[in-house]
Amino acid sequence: MKYLCIVLALAACSEPEQTQAYSAAVSTETSADSIVPAQYDGGKLVRINKSDAEWKRTLSEMSYYVMREEGTERAFTGKLWSNKAKGTYVCHACGLPLFSSATKFDSGTGWPSYYQPVAADYVRENKDSSLGMMRVEVECARCGGHLGHVFDDGPAPTGLRYCINSVSLRFVKEN
Ligand code: FE
Repeated sequence: MKYLCIVLALAACSEPEQTQAYSAAVSTETSADSIVPAQYDGGKLVRINKSDAEWKRTLSEMSYYVMREEGTERAFTGKLWSNKAKGTYVCHACGLPLFSSATKFDSGTGWPSYYQPVAADYVRENKDSSLGMMRVEVECARCGGHLGHVFDDGPAPTGLRYCINSVSLRFVKEN
């Protein structure tokens, strides 16, 4: 009887796990040539204007939904919210360098969060009254792609929280 108990205990231990933690390594990096620096004409940032059809050809379905239709990815589902590597976050659609890892912080929201953009004129802010809330939408100043929203509950030194969709960005790791 004692021997049978030991055999049963060993059998229980060797059963395969019913659930496995999702731990697939997700590549977050893109190459340095994804950075397309700002150009100025007469002191004004040169903009990119493309039709919806043109954007549809160059963006994934999810990036098009977020960037051109002001959608939002589900929290904790994007590639970049937990990325802690040093580097630059560029606009997914046009490559403008928008945020530095030096200004990224863990907001606990499940979206990449920064306290300031690389340059004040690289993002544009618009009042957004959708969903019955007053929020400030943030978009790429060059291509007009929707990035996310900015809130005034961020950390020092700005007190701002740029809450950005991962699919609106690409990450270029610093070498
Ligand atoms: Fe852009």
